[in-house]
Formats: sequence, structure tokens, C-alpha cells
Amino acid sequence: MIVVTGATGHLGRHVIDGLLEKVPADRVAAVVRDKEKATDLAARGVELRIGDYSRPETLAGTFGAGDRVLLISGSEVGRRVAQHTAVIDAARTAGVALLAYTGILGGPDADFELAAEHKVTEQLILDSGLPYVFLRNGWYHENYTENLAPVLEHGAVVNSAGDGRVASASRADYAAAAVTVLTGDGFENQVYELSGDVAWSFTEYAAELSRQTGREIGYADVPAADNLAILTGAGLPEPMAAILVDVDAAIARGLLATTSGDLARLIDRPTTPIAEAVAGALKDQ
Ligand code: NDP
Repeated sequence: MIVVTGATGHLGRHVIDGLLEKVPADRVAAVVRDKEKATDLAARGVELRIGDYSRPETLAGTFGAGDRVLLISGSEVGRRVAQHTAVIDAARTAGVALLAYTGILGGPDADFELAAEHKVTEQLILDSGLPYVFLRNGWYHENYTENLAPVLEHGAVVNSAGDGRVASASRADYAAAAVTVLTGDGFENQVYELSGDVAWSFTEYAAELSRQTGREIGYADVPAADNLAILTGAGLPEPMAAILVDVDAAIARGLLATTSGDLARLIDRPTTPIAEAVAGALKDQ
């Protein structure tokens, strides 16, 4: 079986969609913590398996010998090492054939806060002795395009990333790469630095927004302290705002600008341009 954790999330749903285009539904299982959220997946013939990263006892029967597993990293920052440890232990006990993991672009070289748990998780997977694939995902276009409301309201993209560039790609692109490794052969023990084909700057991003909206939208590069105040002022909890400011500093240092071409090669097509993601998001406004 091909088993996908985090299957009720945005990325996981794209992965399930991609798998169902390639393999029969009875070869696909979705690991969910709440079956109610996955009735649509069950209706498409996908087997539902219960598993909560935070409750290791629920993971005992989640995997089977020979399964090819995609571990989609958890979304609760600060809890993920314990959570991923539980999943990896369950996968090792079951004797899965492959454990693919969605880490972060740069792997051990990504020296920002959000990357720390991914680094530890990769080491835990190496220590487990399981055949692995590291899918080191760069930024999603959607991190920006799903948050257009304040940008349109104020006529400005505001952050503290300076001249830094982001080689982002769509979630669907990253999901397609995961589908490739889950359904193909020869990917064992490989590391992929996944990112968009083009690294864009926030000045270019603001210009694209201006072009598509017909309005004047600029880029305001503000000091980190101001960025933190803006984010907390908008209602973000301080720890999460601090993490995002730290990400901007990483972007300014070029850490999310890598364009290795790995993603386009794995999906056998160019990655989705940011302009296309902007167009899709503007339609939804
Ligand atoms: P989502 O938040 O949409 O999905 C997260 C998935 O993880 C959901 O299915 C969620 O389940 C599941 N999950 C969270 N905690 C647990 C748990 N304790 N036990 C079982 N399942 C759990 O994120 P995306 O799909 O957009 O992204 C996938 C992952 O990528 C994120 O979790 C995060 O680690 C990382 N990420 C990457 C970004 C990037 O730009 N590369 C940006 C943001 C996140 P449920 O539906 O029940 O909540």
C-alpha cells in the first residue's frame, strides 16, 4: 500500500489526488486523526487509517510491512520532533519499505528556527535504518497568495526579507514530486532539494500584483522589529510572528532561493509560475 499521513491537509489532498490518477484506489491509504474530515477520501475508495502523531498508541496499526509511506511533517511547530519520532518508530516496527519525508529546502544548511525540527527528523529517519527519501520542500506560493487580503487593502507587500529571493512552487508541484517517488522505483535513499524554477524578489512579486490588479502595489521592506509588531498587531501570536520574521531573515540571506531543478525533474515539467498562483488567488478574492 501507499500510505499518506497528513492526508486531510492541503498538501496531502494534492498527493492523494495525484496518486489516484496513477494507481487504483485500493492501493492507497490515508492516515487521518479524524475520520470525519476524510469522508470524501473514503468515498473515492481510499482506505482510512487512524493515526495521531501526538498519541503514539494510535499509530500501532497505522502501517504495514512493505508499505511505501509519505510522512507529511506536522503543523504544530515545537511539537514535531516528538510527533515525528512516534511516526518513525511505528514505521520501523511495521517494517515499511520506504519512508518519504517532507522536510525543508537546504536540509542541514537551513539554519533558521523553522528548519530545526526538520533537521532532527531527517537524522531520526537516518538512524531508523529505513529506506528513505528526503523531499526537502521550498516555500509554497500559497504562503503568499493565500494571504492577499491585507496586501490589497494596504496596497503593499510588507515584510523584512529585503532583496531576498524565494524559489517557491505550488503545493500541487511538491505533491506531484511526492507522487513520483511513491509510485516509481529507484528513489531510495535520495535527497531532493525541491523548489520553483524561478527565484523572485518581493519587488517583482509586488509588480506582478500591480500588473494583475491594475492597482499600484509596492514592496515595503521594514526592519525586523517593525515586521514583528505588524504581525502581532494583526493578531498573530508572538511566537509564530517571531518565527515568520526569522524566515524573512533567512530569505534575506538567500536560504530559500535555491533553484536546483530537482522539482521540475521529478515532476517532468516546469514548476508553476508565481504569476499563475497570483491569478488563481485573485479570482478567489
Ligand atoms: P496543513 O496544515 O494543510 O496540513 C497539515 C496536515 O497534518 C493535516 O492533515 C493535519 O491533520 C496533519 N496533522 C497535523 N498534526 C497532526 C497530528 N498530531 N496527527 C496527525 N496528523 C496531523 O499543511 P500543508 O498541507 O499545507 O503542509 C504540509 C506540511 O508542510 C505542514 O504540516 C508543515 O509541516 C509544512 N509546511 C510547509 C510550508 C512550505 O511553504 N513548504 C508552509 C507551511 C507548512 P488535520 O487535518 O486533522 O488537522
